[in-house]
This record gives sequence, C-alpha cells and structure tokens, in this order.
Amino acid sequence: MDLIANLASRQTHLTAIRRDIHAHPELAFEEHRTAELVASRLEALGIETHRGIGRTGVVGVVRAGTSTRAIGLRADMDALPITERNDFHHHSRHPGRMHACGHDGHTTMLLGAAEWLAQQGGFDGTVYLLFQPAEEGDGGAREMIEDGLFERFPMEAVFGMHNWPGFTAGHFAVHDGPVMACADRFDIEIRGHGAHAAMPHLGVDPVVVGAALVQALQAIASRAVDPLDAVVVSVTQFHAGEAYNVIPERAQLAGTVRAFRPEVQDRVEEVMQRICTGVAAAFGAQVNFEYRRGYPPTINTSAEAALCAKVAEEVVGATGVDTACRPSMGAEDFSYFLQERPGAYVWIGNGPGEGGCTLHNPHYDFNDAILAPGVAYWVRLAQTLLPR
Ligand SMILES: [Zn+2]
Ligand SMILES: [Zn+2]
Repeated sequence: MDLIANLASRQTHLTAIRRDIHAHPELAFEEHRTAELVASRLEALGIETHRGIGRTGVVGVVRAGTSTRAIGLRADMDALPITERNDFHHHSRHPGRMHACGHDGHTTMLLGAAEWLAQQGGFDGTVYLLFQPAEEGDGGAREMIEDGLFERFPMEAVFGMHNWPGFTAGHFAVHDGPVMACADRFDIEIRGHGAHAAMPHLGVDPVVVGAALVQALQAIASRAVDPLDAVVVSVTQFHAGEAYNVIPERAQLAGTVRAFRPEVQDRVEEVMQRICTGVAAAFGAQVNFEYRRGYPPTINTSAEAALCAKVAEEVVGATGVDTACRPSMGAEDFSYFLQERPGAYVWIGNGPGEGGCTLHNPHYDFNDAILAPGVAYWVRLAQTLLPR
C-alpha cells in the first residue's frame, strides 16, 4: 500500500485528533487528558501500553517479526502558559493554556505512525513510542529516564521531531551535530547600602552596580569566548527599588546562557563569577552569584542524522531536505535522551510564520498539512532502521 497516498486519505482523521488536543491544552505534568487520549488510542490498536512513565508519560510498544533490535520515537505532549488569541473553532478552551509550540501536532503525528506501524508493520523489531510530558522547561525527558525508560524499554537509538515555523511546510532540516543549545540560568543578588536619593554618597547604590554588571557581562561573548563558538549571555530581569527618592538596599539580576559545548558553559560560568565579584568590589557592594545548568545542548549523532536525512529525502524528495541549516540557540529536553543513546532530532517546516504563527506566540497554530509528511517520516524511519 502506498504510504503517502494512504496518509492523504487519513488527513481528516488526523486533523480531528490534532484539533481536539489543541482545544484541550495541559501544562507540564498535568497532561492527564492528553495521556489518556494517547493511551486509549494505542490500546484500541492492540498496542502494549504503559502509563505513568515519568509521571504523565506514556510508552507504546509495537513489535513485528523476530528481531531483538529496537528504536524509540518521541513526541512531546505539553502546552504553554499562554492565553490563545486565535478565534478559529479549535482554539484553546482554557484561558492561560495553549498549544503554542505544536506539541499537539507532534503527539498526533506519532499516533498516526502508531496506527500505521501496528496495522501494516513493514519492519522487524520493536518500535517504542515515547509520549513525553513537560518539555517546556520542566524536563519531562529526564523524568522518564529517571523512571527507568532505557532499562525497561531497551533501545539502540532514539529520534525526535519538532515543527519549525518560517521553514517551508513539510520540508525537513537535519543537522549533523548541534541542533539546539543548552539553556542555563543565573541569578545575581547585589547588596548595597540604602540611602536618601538626594544623599547618594551616604549609601552604596545597587542599581549603579547592576547597570555596570549588565554592561560588563556583554564582554563575555565578545572577549572571553572563542569567536568560533556560539554563545548567548542575556540578562532578562533587573529588579530594584520602589520609590522615587530612595536608593534601595538590593538589586536582583537574572538571565540565561546558551551554548553548544560544555567547555563554553564552564568558561562562561567562571568569567561571570569573576565579573560579579570584581564589579561589586569596585563599587563597595556585596554580591551573590548562582549559576544553574538547565537542558543540555541537543547534539545529533552523525550516522543517525545521515539516516534521518536519507529517510526525509525519500518522503519529500531531495529538494525538501536541508542538511546545511544553522542550529538554533533555543533549547530542547530531547537532549537528555541523546545523552543516553545515539539519535537525531529533526525539524519539519510549519510554513510561513505570518500573523504571529511563530513558536510560543498567542497566534501560533500547528499546520495540519504537515501531519501526513510527519507520519510518513516516522513510519519510513522505523522501517528503514529495522528492516525486514
Ligand atoms: Zn516550546
Ligand atoms: Zn516545542
């Protein structure tokens, strides 16, 4: 049976599932309705189904033939704390919750692949379908791993896919190496000495120290890290003071660091500490600096990335696959899976990002036209990696 032609005939069915999930978004580790929808659909297909992996995660096990080989395909299920501004029929029924990153589409594409693989097979081995909770900041992938994912479901490689607005609908981008950066966080607390704003010489002004620090931290990217290494140091919060005529006691800065290599993360942390200590001392203030590692960088392994590119070419043709695309400084917790097993995380174009149809925007929507190529990619990837 022709895969692509058949999937085109499933468009209405897949779209209905996607829009149902879109209308009922759930935040990190609260994906109870979504997980139940996934699990009950898998069970209806006769697929061995495990609930509660990493709290609200679900794993489906599809077996065919006699091979002991196995791979994992992953979709994320969580939504974002955003109030949707779209007014189409399938808009979010819950203010303050929205599928603004397309995880509704990712879940649907993997369900579509589950249907095909369970009914048509065409592979020899085991495909683990990983429906992951809490990608948006809470590390659902790590929770699944800590819950024994790779011991309970031993797999030789693991694969992920994310829609990408601004990239031609249904085209694929496959990176050999880094795809997404790490997402570290820092907090800086400056303690000065409060005073009357008209008598600044009697105090130590933490606002002036904070302003100097924000400036000094810009020198990390330009002067402390090899220019051939990508790095972002963004101060995103600056809190201080409450009155027009009072120099406050404290100021707080916070922000994020993005990089692709652990050596760069180490270097940034070391230099940030030095700048904080030095600048605060220069002004006679005290400082407390905290640096916390977040999601690791997402790094595809070469052999698996090459296989993914080949499969994507087969699905959409060579002109629809970009293997020279730049990585993003965004982050993704699929990185935790890639720390455990080889694999690759690819992007599928969501079409133009017009009208705010960009990730994490209240006007975003997943493009239903890419459901079929997404499902076809998963199916052909499983069949290629686990050949009969
Ligand atoms: Zn997101
Ligand atoms: Zn996402």
